[in-house]
Amino acid sequence: MNLLLLTPQEIDEQGCVQLTDRRHQHIQQVHRLNKGDTLQAGVINGLCGEAEILEQQPHLTRLKLNLYRQPPAPLPVTLLLALPRPRMLARSLEHLTALGVKKLVLMHTNRVEKSFWQSPELKPEKIHQHLILGLEQAKDTQLPEVHFKKRFKPFVEDELTSLAANSLKLVAHPGNYPSCPRNINQQLTLAIGPEGGFIDYEIELLKAQGFQAVQLGERILRVETAVTALLARLF
Ligand code: SAM
Repeated sequence: MNLLLLTPQEIDEQGCVQLTDRRHQHIQQVHRLNKGDTLQAGVINGLCGEAEILEQQPHLTRLKLNLYRQPPAPLPVTLLLALPRPRMLARSLEHLTALGVKKLVLMHTNRVEKSFWQSPELKPEKIHQHLILGLEQAKDTQLPEVHFKKRFKPFVEDELTSLAANSLKLVAHPGNYPSCPRNINQQLTLAIGPEGGFIDYEIELLKAQGFQAVQLGERILRVETAVTALLARLF
C-alpha cells in the first residue's frame, strides 16, 4: 500500500478519517507508523497528498488529511482484453491499473472459455478490489472504467468504430507482423488476445476496423506479461 486510498464518504468535515479495516492494520503492522507520522493518501477519483496520524489504537487509526495535488497522468489507451482465466484476470487488473490504464474492455473471443464468464472474480466488488490494489500500488486515485462485451462480432462491428475513433489501433498477435512500435505519442486502442490467441477470423474483423497486427518477437508471453510489455514499450 503505497497510497492510503479513501472514499469521499469516509472523510469528515474537519478532513479527518477513522480506519478500522485492513488499511488500519497495514498502517500499524506493515508501515509501523505512530502518532505524528505521515503517509501518502488520496481520495478515489480525487486529489492526493498526505495524511498525519492523530491517534493510533489497537483497533483504529485516526488521521488528518492534506490533499492538494493531482494523481499521475493516465495512459491514453483503451485496452481491449480477451477475458483471461480468473486467476490471471485478478493479476492483470492490478497490473494494468498500476500502469495507468483508465478504460478497459473485457471481451469474449473464440478461445475464451465460456465458463470464465461465470467466475466470482467478475463480481463488481471483486473487480473493484483489484482496481483499488492497483491504484494503491501506483499512488493513483483515478479508478479505471471496466466494460464487458460478451459477443465479439457485434462489439467489433457495431461499437468499436466510435470507441476507437481518432486513435492508433493495434492488435498484439504473434507471427509475421511488424514489430510493435515504441514511444507513441497518441491515443491508442490496443487489443490483446486470450491464452490461445485470436483466431484468423477475429484478426480479419479487427483489421476491417482499421487495426494493424503487431508482434513482440518470437517469445509468446502470458497475457499479464504481454499487457505490461506492450504498454511499457508503447508509452
Ligand atoms: N498461442 C497464442 C498465439 O499464438 O496467438 C498465444 C497467445 S498469448 C498467451 C496471449 C496474447 O498475448 C496474444 O493473443 C497476444 O495478444 C499477446 N502476446 C503474447 N505474446 C506475444 C508476442 N510475442 N507478440 C505479440 N503479442 C503477444
